[in-house]
Amino acid sequence: MIYSVIVDISASEVDRIFDYKGEGYEVGQRVLVDFANRQKEGIIIGVKNKTTCPPNKLKPIIRSLDDFTAISPELLSLGEFMRQEYHLRYADVLRLFIPAEMRGNRVKSLSKKQAYLADGSDLVGILDSLKPNAVKQRDLVTFLYNNGATLAERLNAEFGNGALRALEEKGIVKTNDIVLRRTPYSDIKATESVKHNLLPMQQRAVQTILSDRQGRYLLHGVTGSGKTEVYLTVIEQMVSEGKTCIMLVPEIALTPYMLRQLRARFGDAVALLHSGLSVGERYDEWLRLKNGEARIAIGARSAIFAPLDNIGAIIVDEEHDGSYISDFNPRYDTLNVAAFRANQNGALTVFGSATPSLSSYYSAVNGELTLIEMPDRINRRPLPTVEIVDMASETRIGNKGIFSRLLKERLAETVDRGNQAMLFLNRRGFSSFLMCTKCGYVAKCSDCDVSLTVHREDNMLKCHYCGKKYYMLSKCPNCGELSFRQGRIGTQQVVDLLKEMFPHVNVLRMDADTTQTKESHGKILESFRKGEAQILVGTQMIAKGHDFPKVTLVGVLDGDQSLHHSDYLATERTFQLITQVAGRSGRDADVGTVVLQTYTPTHYCLQLAAKQDYKGFYKREIALREAGGFPPFCEIVRILYQGEKEKDCIDVLTEQFAQIANIKTDNSDDFLYLDKMRCPLKRAEKKYRFQILLKIKRNNLNALLQRIYYVCDGNRKKSVQVFVERNPQNLS
Ligand code: ADP
Ligand code: ZN
Repeated sequence: MIYSVIVDISASEVDRIFDYKGEGYEVGQRVLVDFANRQKEGIIIGVKNKTTCPPNKLKPIIRSLDDFTAISPELLSLGEFMRQEYHLRYADVLRLFIPAEMRGNRVKSLSKKQAYLADGSDLVGILDSLKPNAVKQRDLVTFLYNNGATLAERLNAEFGNGALRALEEKGIVKTNDIVLRRTPYSDIKATESVKHNLLPMQQRAVQTILSDRQGRYLLHGVTGSGKTEVYLTVIEQMVSEGKTCIMLVPEIALTPYMLRQLRARFGDAVALLHSGLSVGERYDEWLRLKNGEARIAIGARSAIFAPLDNIGAIIVDEEHDGSYISDFNPRYDTLNVAAFRANQNGALTVFGSATPSLSSYYSAVNGELTLIEMPDRINRRPLPTVEIVDMASETRIGNKGIFSRLLKERLAETVDRGNQAMLFLNRRGFSSFLMCTKCGYVAKCSDCDVSLTVHREDNMLKCHYCGKKYYMLSKCPNCGELSFRQGRIGTQQVVDLLKEMFPHVNVLRMDADTTQTKESHGKILESFRKGEAQILVGTQMIAKGHDFPKVTLVGVLDGDQSLHHSDYLATERTFQLITQVAGRSGRDADVGTVVLQTYTPTHYCLQLAAKQDYKGFYKREIALREAGGFPPFCEIVRILYQGEKEKDCIDVLTEQFAQIANIKTDNSDDFLYLDKMRCPLKRAEKKYRFQILLKIKRNNLNALLQRIYYVCDGNRKKSVQVFVERNPQNLS
């Protein structure tokens, strides 16, 4: 037999399929092959009788790497779809389908020694055979008799190392190795979750969803309307029918909350897939899904590739979240991938959000998605009242601080009453900086076109893009001046100010810097949930769906920060963020308040967000998109060129731009825009960055995309990488 193999060669820009011979292999299997005189891993993607490869060049497959088929036929066809849809290389796509650590054989199953009684039937007999003063040994035997097989490490910790060894030598105790599953967040136990009886609104939602098992649903439910219970009920039904499910949540922040609820309901049938896990945990969880031990996959974006068969439902919570669009290679849109997998499996999809993305809502309006609305909060708890504060007028009366008088007042009240507050700083982008007061010099990263951020905890400057650290400046390298001005306030500074204002109150901070380790996210949130602090300060990380009953105040310190970004998604994002953070307030009995500080208090986005008027916002924004020719009315395509040699980048860019300009000439009606330029982030991680931006109408999209992809394939310079992005979330 001839097998078509994708060889895992990372540096290569070519996307080629190589033929090997062999017998008895299966499509989807990982194999070891000889490639350019080196042994390489590969994946079989096809089998055939003939090859064009000359017989003397046709090499045999060396052996298979696993005793199972790593990639199912369904996932292979997804790979083919993604390759064409997003212009990706096979090797990069296939990598999404298996845990990274399986490649290169870097992970092993975890096995440990366990001990048990050789003859567990006669405790008295064994004890009689031991000396009366061998107390530890006697205790150990009794323990094993009562508890059965136990890990050796635990026995040694409890009874001392000698006891177990002595008993083993006497033949009373035997040991063997068992394979252990590494369970992520095993401390997250399913304690506090209770199963609610569905309220009528939830019941209707579940009924609608289950009425068509291949339906495509958009669940638009305000924050606190009980969407989670709807998801869980749908999953429960599917699992009872013998199907499997995938549940996606935006990113690490939300996982512990959702994981707890899923474990409560489904126990070990739940497996967690996300990048924050340890190597071993991720492998074990993947394997549990693969071999059918676990039937529900939960995780961030990459969990959409869970190795499940017979999928009944794919649920995407907070479907508007930007993290569902992968913005590095391989680039793809998770919602689109979800729809493809659902089609293949005959599964239903539920996209849920309090603030659906404009394109999803537009699809619902057009009937491509079935809209389900849950407009009320559980028990009709009122939505929080939002008070907008004009920061310009605060400045006019002499308050130059970052807290308005109103917010200070509300904070004091909240703290006095023993309630909790969340303060939200919308620090998107990389614009905090250190500037010389004399010559205007700004400290920048040497590898990226990004200004550095001051970190007080270790008195260092850090590049928030690549993570590189620099010593703090004592004088300006340009003019020698000793004084600097710091731009833009950060979360750290807010915490310091709060400590001055409320010396006796505990304050927690959550942002990218305090959540670098795997479990720190969960720890900070758990600690806040338990009431160990009264105020939590954070970036958009804290905006996502956590349920903190004691939070009665939410403060948005810089409500317009993201409004002024230049991309077309800025307003939508701001609306979503403010609605989401506002939803954190007053989820329990007390009515919540939100204080929204801004310099543009009359902006429609903020006004409508304050009223939590999603439909009003949708109507306004969708009209603007249509008038301006933006998605969902057209497709924005960015072709990104990056490389360490600037001239090479410009050469490839110029050549390909000319070819695309020709396509435009032939199809001028379909093009709304075409131009080439430097990226706003001109250089990152030592690479120069350029882009071609185009806007194309939807009607002829696929044919045009194929022609554009063909142009991109024409790049012959190894020093330049070319990537295509469709409707990118981020144009930096
Ligand atoms: P959403 O995801 O829509 O923001 P949640 O699913 O977090 O809302 O639900 C909000 C709160 O209401 C949670 O504390 C949840 O436990 C509670 N809840 C959900 N469904 C019910 C129900 N049927 N009866 C009582 N309480 C419920
Ligand atoms: Zn950098």
